[in-house]
Amino acid sequence: MATLLRFAPSPTGSLHLGGLRTALYNYLYAKKTGGKWILRIEDTDRTREVPGAVEGIRAALEWSGLEYDYGPGKPGPHGPYFQSERLDLYHAYANKLLDNGHAYRCFCSRDKLAAIREKLARTGSNSTYDRTCLHLTEEEAARKVRAGEKFVVRLNVARLPTRPPGYDLVFKHLKDAHASLPTDPILLKSDAFPTYHLASVVDDHEMGITHVIRGEEWLPSLPLHRDLYAALSLPPPQFAHLPILLNPDGSKMSKRKGDVRVLDYAQRGWEPNAVLNWLALAGWGVQQDASRPSTSSS
Ligand code: GLU
Repeated sequence: MATLLRFAPSPTGSLHLGGLRTALYNYLYAKKTGGKWILRIEDTDRTREVPGAVEGIRAALEWSGLEYDYGPGKPGPHGPYFQSERLDLYHAYANKLLDNGHAYRCFCSRDKLAAIREKLARTGSNSTYDRTCLHLTEEEAARKVRAGEKFVVRLNVARLPTRPPGYDLVFKHLKDAHASLPTDPILLKSDAFPTYHLASVVDDHEMGITHVIRGEEWLPSLPLHRDLYAALSLPPPQFAHLPILLNPDGSKMSKRKGDVRVLDYAQRGWEPNAVLNWLALAGWGVQQDASRPSTSSS
């Protein structure tokens, strides 16, 4: 089976070195396996979108020389895909989950949710929602929809099918339970945009992605993603989460302002291959094998 990978940045800022490293691994794995990789812009959080970020990401990738491929079913110039142009698809999947009882509509207002959270915290619960709307009858929910009440769609975690624990190509066997926090995660927001989780699972399936290579910061989301595949009766792709780049003092590289933007390296005249070479070598090393004779001449 041909491999298909994706690099899926959110346009919330500039592409930084960590992002370029993820792109590089996707590119290299695609090349190594004779497959392809695509660019998918995950622009579903309109509150965090930064104007010009998409252009910046594309310019940084272009500078790096990592040329992405066409996606299946997308003739014409090289991608990228934009999730904001695929809302109907996410709605169709959310409806599937609503129909099979794996999701429900929640009409709780912001104020009501805050009150529920406060009450739960007082009882020592670490849950963030008490599933009030799970108990609405179909008729009650339909009436609210007809009346134009805003709603979100939540995953019904209590009804999830059992599934095997996760496996990651880097982290190996994972002892993950079901997605539990926050209770009954939101899949579709009240602005009718999907959350990252729903959009990512739907797209990875619809696009036929075989390998998801992304940063380690997404490892905690894997149980939820695997639950979504199970609730939709879909086979999950293979996952590889890359340990993130750190400063020598162990702090997150992205925290240090100003020295992580890919385009800054371009502007300073760095050779793209030098940056890619460094990124390819960062984060791994050959372990000293005590059983082998030392090659030093001392
Ligand atoms: N959109 C996510 C980000 O910008 C990528 C998550 C993924 O690759 O699944 O970090």
